[in-house]
Amino acid sequence: MRDIPTRYNPQENEERIYASWEKEKLFHAEAPAAKKPYCIVIPPPNITGILHMGHALNNTIQDILVRWKRMQGYDTLWMPGTDHAGIATQNVVERDLAKEGVKRQDLGREKFLERVWGWKKEYGSTIIRQLKRLGCSCDWDRTRFTMDDGLSNAVKEVFIRLYGDGLIYKGDYIINWCPRCGTALSDEEAEHRDIDGMLYYIKYPVKGREKLAVENEDYVVVATTRPETMLGDVAVAVNPRDPRYAHLKDETLVLPIVKRDLRVVFDEDVDPDFGTGALKVTPAHDPVDFELGRKHGLERVNVMNADGTINALGGDYEGMDRFECREAIVEDLKQRKLFIRSEEHKHAVGHCYRCHTVVEPRLSKQWFVRMKPLAAEGISVVKKKKIRFYPGRWTKVYLNWMENIRDWCISRQIWWGHRIPVWYCKDCLEYDDARDVDVDEPGKKGIYVGAEPPEKCPACGSRRLEQDPDVLDTWFSSWLWPFSTLGWPEKTKELDVFYPTDALVTAQEIIFFWVARMIMAGLKFRGDIPFRDVYIHGTVRDSTGTKMSKSLGNVIDPLEVIGQVGSDALRFSIISITSQGQDVFLSKDKFELGRNFANKLWNASRYVLMNLDENSLEGGLPEDSLSLADRWILSLLNETIDKVQASLASYRFNDATIAIYDFVWHKYCDWYLEISKMAGDRSTAQKVLVRVLEGILKLLHPIMPFITEEIWRNMPGEGAGWIMTSKWPEPERKYSDASSVEKMEKLIALITAVRNIRAFWNVDHRSTVEVLASASDQDEAALAKDNSVYIEKLASCALSGAEVDAERPSQTVAALVGKMKVYVSIGGAVDLDREKARINGKVQELEKCLSGIEKKLGNRSFVEKAPEEVVNKEKAKRDRFREQVATLRDNLASLQ
Ligand SMILES: [Zn+2]
Ligand SMILES: [Zn+2]
Repeated sequence: MRDIPTRYNPQENEERIYASWEKEKLFHAEAPAAKKPYCIVIPPPNITGILHMGHALNNTIQDILVRWKRMQGYDTLWMPGTDHAGIATQNVVERDLAKEGVKRQDLGREKFLERVWGWKKEYGSTIIRQLKRLGCSCDWDRTRFTMDDGLSNAVKEVFIRLYGDGLIYKGDYIINWCPRCGTALSDEEAEHRDIDGMLYYIKYPVKGREKLAVENEDYVVVATTRPETMLGDVAVAVNPRDPRYAHLKDETLVLPIVKRDLRVVFDEDVDPDFGTGALKVTPAHDPVDFELGRKHGLERVNVMNADGTINALGGDYEGMDRFECREAIVEDLKQRKLFIRSEEHKHAVGHCYRCHTVVEPRLSKQWFVRMKPLAAEGISVVKKKKIRFYPGRWTKVYLNWMENIRDWCISRQIWWGHRIPVWYCKDCLEYDDARDVDVDEPGKKGIYVGAEPPEKCPACGSRRLEQDPDVLDTWFSSWLWPFSTLGWPEKTKELDVFYPTDALVTAQEIIFFWVARMIMAGLKFRGDIPFRDVYIHGTVRDSTGTKMSKSLGNVIDPLEVIGQVGSDALRFSIISITSQGQDVFLSKDKFELGRNFANKLWNASRYVLMNLDENSLEGGLPEDSLSLADRWILSLLNETIDKVQASLASYRFNDATIAIYDFVWHKYCDWYLEISKMAGDRSTAQKVLVRVLEGILKLLHPIMPFITEEIWRNMPGEGAGWIMTSKWPEPERKYSDASSVEKMEKLIALITAVRNIRAFWNVDHRSTVEVLASASDQDEAALAKDNSVYIEKLASCALSGAEVDAERPSQTVAALVGKMKVYVSIGGAVDLDREKARINGKVQELEKCLSGIEKKLGNRSFVEKAPEEVVNKEKAKRDRFREQVATLRDNLASLQ
């Protein structure tokens, strides 16, 4: 007899089991692969990252795929690593410094970077430890970091090649600028939040008729949320099909106060239905206007200083803060009668995610990658289905973005990151600030691009060289991730074996930032796609549908959940409630699903294993002595294997969990375990019990790796080894038997019908009732007779007979099971008059409530005035009551 604890405690087991997998190097993949390769690269979490539910979902899915493929015999590599996360990490360290009253500028670049590396060493692996706690089976020996030597070489190599191909240049661009922090921010770091702002309507007079603008209609009305930016206006844009502005074809407008001439630009992209249909164009202070300006060759008038004050180009407003200037301008416009009105206007505004200051879009010189030439093949491989998106709807989103791709701004004005590998010669070039040097063509004199600092200027021999002060966007290293982690630009066997990788699992927010760019980089530098399948999962939200965020306080901490119910339960729960690509609505009680299931599995396994007589397991399954129930459960196991296999292969993870859950709980535990206790052939039943349990554990292992490994350890037989590296189950078709399944399902329906009748009529559980089966044919009658033991035991009844068209005895309740009628005599077991009275009483009570609701719903003014959801709730209640009344009446009627 085996000794297995009555309760499974995940806290006592999960970390121990994980350590033993690591010790045995079971996550390690060899290259060259002896077997077929399967590879996934992890979306590298930031070194500042703390595991949240989004990570938990993302990495559980990857671990399921990897464990499943590993069991299928693939040489499986899950490539892990972390991202240096430029601005995020720099900010964390700067915050630490601020506590000591020190700014990064006080330390200087070199000392500051030392601090960041120190921080990384101490805290940068937190997220890795947390991924291990989740059970991730990454090949940790291969862990990479976007700023380690190999990956830094890849970044330099790519920059140099793109520069050589004329695909990298430096030019003016609008960036997100935080006037308080004095730094550029990436788009992700300018958090968009709705604010209660104002929309101001202003008259722009037509040139030559300025005076008239005050009284009549010789003006154009523009609406803006930032009147201070009008100081930098150079044009007004309208749609060429907008009849309201057709007369402006040959006119010029005049910018109020400043009196600058403004061109009227006709552009299809202007939405005539937005605002007044006339758009003021400020190329130096708005990204949309910047593009418009580029398209129409407009001047860029930058009116703001780095600290958010107005510069000399702002005339009388020079020196004012931008918000102070806003009020002053509105006041001046009012005095000149060029102000129409203002209205409240809720709109999204970027805020510095670090200090919450309103971000100012600002013109500055930046490095860019020309994306159009790279995008062409990225479009073609998706159209040709060489890369597939799951769910398929993302294909369109991807293609749409790729077809409208814009140049990628890759420089950042921070210190933590890959420094731009460009040096300027102070003797060849004249400049004050290296940032202002234009690099518009490859091979320009005095500009050196290379992996190592040059000793002297190749053009003039001068040693007065200066490196570009900026660093590269963090995504400039992550877009190389699928091949840089495998050793590129070196030639490695890992690249030969594992590239292209098989699947990428990621969130929708980074399809453009990351997925699309990886596809382009793979095609450009490896000449092949980086992955075949892209699975895009949903966003984790709270139960009301709101995205989880720290500031809202609706976050559920995965580590806390793991501490309470275990990693297995977390994984099973989150996967069960997530249909393909849909958002996940989480609340803490959802994890009970996984916990209860783990307990159910443990209890069933423990029962099977503790009652095992090992001698009876010798030899294979004797096919000729299999009972109806044996054939049924073996058939269903085959079916479940097929379902799980098909679900995983098409990234429908919740379908896999539902199939396993239903099989384990409602077939194996509810029925087969009970039936096996009555088995005539104990040895065969035990063999079936163990074989099916084996199948269950294997199917479940990718989703619940810990508990399945722990139960596996207790399975009979020598040298069972690790479930993690065991063979994925294959259906054994010789055990699939459709007729046994049909028969067994009929028996189950019969037993369930008798049980329901007993429950409805309040039959005491100690009483036995008599059951007569009236079959529609001989086979049906034989089925009931041959399995009378099961029927009698499981439904606490005595089967008085099973015949074709048996006559109905009196005082019986009838139920229909397929074509078979089942008559249950309850007369002896309950006081029928009392029960009838009880049920009639219930019917009356329900009908009273029902008529109340019907009256309410018949009341016109209630239906019209009450909120829709209240009315719908009442309707649902009415339907429920009607159904209950009908059921009660049916049951009364079934008594004869
Ligand atoms: Zn800031
Ligand atoms: Zn030079």
